[in-house]
Amino acid sequence: MTNSPARPDARVTVVALACVAVGAALLLPVDRPVSSALLAGAHLVAVLVLARGAQRRTDDVVWRWFAGAAVVVGVQPVLALVTGERSLGLLGGCVLAAIPLAYQGLVRWNRFRTYTSDPGDFLNGLSAVLACTGAGIVAQQRFHVLPAGWPDWKVQLWLLVAGSMVILLGTALTVAGVGGLSRDPRMWLILVALAGVGLVSSTLRGHPGDAVRGQAAWTLAFLVIAYASTRRGRPVPVAATSQAPAVGALIVLALAVVVLVADGRAGGWHATAYASVAILGITFRVVHLVRELAQLAESRHQALTDELTGVGNRRALVRELEDLVGRGLPAAMLLLDVDHFKEVNDRQGHHAGDDLLRRVAVSVRRALPVDAVLTRIGGDEFAVVMPGRDEDQAVEIAATVHRAVAAQVEIGLSIGVRSLPAGGFDPDRLLRQADAAMYTAKTAGGGVSLYDCEVDARLRDRAALVADLKALVGAGEQQMRREIAVHYQPQLDVVTRRVVGVEALVRWQHPTRGLLPPLTFLDLVEEHGLMDALTAHLLQRAVEESRPWSDGGVPLRISVNLSASSLTHPGLLCLVDRILEQTGLAPGRLVLEVTETTLMADPDLALAVTHELTRRGVQLSIDDYGTGYSSLAYLTDLPATELKLDRAFTMRVLAEPRTAEIVEATVALAHRLGLRVVAEGVEDEATLTVLRGLDVDESQGYLHARPLPPAEFAAWLAAGARRDQVVGAPAPRGV
Ligand code: C2E
Ligand code: CA
Ligand code: CA
Repeated sequence: MTNSPARPDARVTVVALACVAVGAALLLPVDRPVSSALLAGAHLVAVLVLARGAQRRTDDVVWRWFAGAAVVVGVQPVLALVTGERSLGLLGGCVLAAIPLAYQGLVRWNRFRTYTSDPGDFLNGLSAVLACTGAGIVAQQRFHVLPAGWPDWKVQLWLLVAGSMVILLGTALTVAGVGGLSRDPRMWLILVALAGVGLVSSTLRGHPGDAVRGQAAWTLAFLVIAYASTRRGRPVPVAATSQAPAVGALIVLALAVVVLVADGRAGGWHATAYASVAILGITFRVVHLVRELAQLAESRHQALTDELTGVGNRRALVRELEDLVGRGLPAAMLLLDVDHFKEVNDRQGHHAGDDLLRRVAVSVRRALPVDAVLTRIGGDEFAVVMPGRDEDQAVEIAATVHRAVAAQVEIGLSIGVRSLPAGGFDPDRLLRQADAAMYTAKTAGGGVSLYDCEVDARLRDRAALVADLKALVGAGEQQMRREIAVHYQPQLDVVTRRVVGVEALVRWQHPTRGLLPPLTFLDLVEEHGLMDALTAHLLQRAVEESRPWSDGGVPLRISVNLSASSLTHPGLLCLVDRILEQTGLAPGRLVLEVTETTLMADPDLALAVTHELTRRGVQLSIDDYGTGYSSLAYLTDLPATELKLDRAFTMRVLAEPRTAEIVEATVALAHRLGLRVVAEGVEDEATLTVLRGLDVDESQGYLHARPLPPAEFAAWLAAGARRDQVVGAPAPRGV
């Protein structure tokens, strides 16, 4: 900072001394050189202090201009010091030359934040002075305020100075009000200084001593302003408006016209000349103002327009919605999304994409009612706001738009419809709800869809769950061990009733939702690319936890489910190798379960991977068998070792002889291919008995145990004797 706290005080003292000097000069006889020297010295102080103030970084601009004005007015005391001559006329001339500088300072102070120098402001001021002078001439003709003997030039000079003073004061007052400086004490000091010098000047008529009084008044005024420049201000930032200049221009115009009319009757030509020039100046100013306004309107328009399509942009939408909220009007909103836009963009290039968007915009615009506001709010998303429409009307319009775009642009749209309640709504929320409706339409394959709060709640719930999942996977191994639970369900030999294997089934111990079954989150895991991380974690956990388990001295097999993406993930083989190596598990104890759908997602790759797995000795199980459509030929090529009969068969095998026949045939075929058959979902003894009769090898289901946490499973396993009691003696095979 240029101002240390001590410096302003020194300047204040100097200014105070200079004021005393001015007082002394007024008390001394006018023609003494000492008086001239005192005045000149005091004036110099004012100039220097102002120049110092001009070095401030923020609002220096005003002090710089005032310093300039002080220099110009200072010509008079310097001349008086040198020549001993003083003239009111010379002072008037200097003041007249200085006032535009002070005026410019004030106007710029008003705008110092933007530093826009607006020539129009100067024109405004000049025209106002001329109009005022014209009015003064008319007044002088009627009321003879100034001495009757004065020549025209003297009258006009006096009036010009007076007019300038009036305009300067008026400008200072306007700046104080419009420029947010009304609470700035410096502004008030300037106002007091200008008012004081104006008052003194209005009494000067060219009497002896008037020139000194006038000079002293100006020097004092500049000293007060110089004092103001030592103070720190509290400017309040205010946006520049074109309102004040416009009002000012109108007042000047009105005044000039009045002068013209009045002067016409009085018969002089000077006033007419002043008023005419004022009107000319103000006309220029108004033209400038209009151009400024047009530019403003243009830039506002651009700020609200989407460059690509020429419709409104997101800002325009927000504004429209806020406007509707403000007016308490009901309205409806459409959210449109172009179907398969990404494909067009990717395949045919961005130009084609841009062109498509333009054509969609035109087509939608044509299909909409005239009062609808169309905006593009993102890549291929458009939003429409329709004031005064209810839900039914909105759906009808949406359908029309959909048809029009399908016919004209030959592309589908997904349109979400949301009606906006009258009297207050949250624009962001509505946009999100319309978006949810659009999403519903999109998942239904396009078309129009109305907002449904249940669907929306589900979507939001899913989104929250996805966020939690991502956070969990991102948090790493430790957190996953805390929240991810693996439950184990035994697989028993149907004849010996010994436990031979165990299937690992994942659960999520969610911090607020409790224990979540796999079907509530697995599709989200897959959808959001988190499956690999989860599978790696589960495989490791399952092998670690189940490794010690055995029944009757025979270690258990451990079955782990693989999703479609996990099977074909390039890292799977490495992962399996690493886990086998780390845990020392015999590869033959590990069973990877894959479904037919998983295999069919990429049959060739799946075949290659499964061969690689079995080459390592790892077993492969075909899960949910019977629900898919894989061809038997494909299954023959698969190096699988196990077939899991889907629960749907198991459940019906007791009641439906045809199902029993299918199962029997399947089991026979599987055995011929060297596969072991496990029946899933065995819930009662009778079913188990039938399955045993159909030659099924193993059984898994609630009959034996539900999936259990590791500790409980170990306890269940240890209670093997009791298990035999409950289940009873094995029935002979081939019932
Ligand atoms: P799945 O592989 O067919 O697993 C068997 C499902 O049947 C399990 O459901 C199990 O609790 C249930 N179940 C077992 N016995 C009975 C019974 O007697 N009656 C009835 N009604 N159901 C029985 P869960 O644990 O809810 O798992 C559902 C599915 O989630 C699994 O079907 C599997 O596709 C998937 N899944 C589970 N854990 C994992 C995993 O770690 N990774 C992957 N990728 N998928 C998993
Ligand atoms: Ca399974
Ligand atoms: Ca299954």
